[in-house]
Amino acid sequence: LKNDQLDSWDRENFFHPSTHLAQHARGESPSRVIKTASGVYIEDRDGNKMLDAFAGLYCVNVGYGRTEIADAIAAQASELAYYHSYVGHGTEASITLSKMILDRAPANMSKVYFGLGGSDANETNVKLVWYYNNILGRPEKKKIISRWRGYHGSGLVTGSLTGLELFHKKFDLPLDNILHTEAPYYYRRANLDQTEEQFVAHCVAALEEMIDREGADTIAAFIGEPVLGTGGIVPPPAGYWAAIQAVLKKHDILLIADEVVTGFGRLGSMFGSDHYGLEADIITIAKGLTSAYAPLSGSIISDKVWKVLEQGTDENGPIGHGWTYSAHPIGAAAGVANLKLIDSLNLIENASSVGGYFRSALADALQDHPNVGEVRGEGMLAAVEFVRDKDSRTFFDAADKIGPQISAKLLEQDSVIARAMPQGDILGFAPPFCLSREEADTVVAATQRAVTAVLG
Ligand code: PLP
Repeated sequence: LKNDQLDSWDRENFFHPSTHLAQHARGESPSRVIKTASGVYIEDRDGNKMLDAFAGLYCVNVGYGRTEIADAIAAQASELAYYHSYVGHGTEASITLSKMILDRAPANMSKVYFGLGGSDANETNVKLVWYYNNILGRPEKKKIISRWRGYHGSGLVTGSLTGLELFHKKFDLPLDNILHTEAPYYYRRANLDQTEEQFVAHCVAALEEMIDREGADTIAAFIGEPVLGTGGIVPPPAGYWAAIQAVLKKHDILLIADEVVTGFGRLGSMFGSDHYGLEADIITIAKGLTSAYAPLSGSIISDKVWKVLEQGTDENGPIGHGWTYSAHPIGAAAGVANLKLIDSLNLIENASSVGGYFRSALADALQDHPNVGEVRGEGMLAAVEFVRDKDSRTFFDAADKIGPQISAKLLEQDSVIARAMPQGDILGFAPPFCLSREEADTVVAATQRAVTAVLG
């Protein structure tokens, strides 16, 4: 197809996720058409090569162009492209993958329920938590506590769990029964005199207050990402998870660890739960499960939750929850090949070592800049937050679009992709785990040039 043809079909027919509708109406949002990719590089139809320091949407963890995964998908598609996984049926790929996931998951985990993406997996989690409480005879224990700046998807329930205004406004969200508590965002604490320890105590007090106000017998679960992702790539302050988990245990509130970004190695540990010593009741997985070579997600369910769910079946018949594409064989084949590759290439070790190298180089290059408030991250996940004034941490005006400007400059000058996070002037990095030190140096030098070009 000619470029002109593709461009006009795109404009006329394709409603892209996250479209800026007013810009589209003004004809301002042409698509870059991506054609091929290898390692950490993607290439568009005109042959422009870009270093993708965000791994797609932090999902192509093993890097692009892995023929081992492509071949596994092709073989599965030829042998059996589809059969459903409703009770009484399975495929070798989906059964093998369930075993591989449980072998890698924290010891208290017992079963995996497969979905397609992170949003539907979190939808499953909320339904399972409600089912669990209904079996236990406490139907009023329904509310879910999430956090401001959390990201858990963009469906009705999951968009409600998401604590970013963009995902609520004009959709009449959040739905009832979904609450948001403080984000563990130490850099943006209201009281700058607080130590990390005091700030953790403040987050805990806010949670306790919410539980007291609502009544623990109305609260089913707390959901959180081990490291806040789309909300700004914010690792929690020391001691946060242990303190929060103690409160949840005290009030018999389940913990859902949303590991869509952190699962399978992004923090340099197999799971974020391992990294922070979390004992979750349910773990959400997606992105890194297949490195996005095919859509697949999962809810890993603990022994504690499973034992209760199991009690429900005789009285209620089969659980009324399933997707046509749950455990799709092609996704499962991609997952098996992906997890094998992560092991055989030691990619989690690389995420830890090169991730650490990358983050410290980024900090060395940028932290003294007068408009860089903070350089932060964990494993192969990093962010730079920009401020108008370093001491008072004042924001730039939203209309200045400093984050988007820097990300656009980075691409324009050096063909490097980093993501302007949706709230605040935060540039996010989540490269594939196979990033080399030389590629990390390229990203850091390019970022420094982009920051200088926009902010001086
Ligand atoms: N949970 C987290 C932590 C995510 O980062 C995302 C997506 O970025 C989701 C859930 C939703 O996943 P999906 O976009 O596959 O529905």
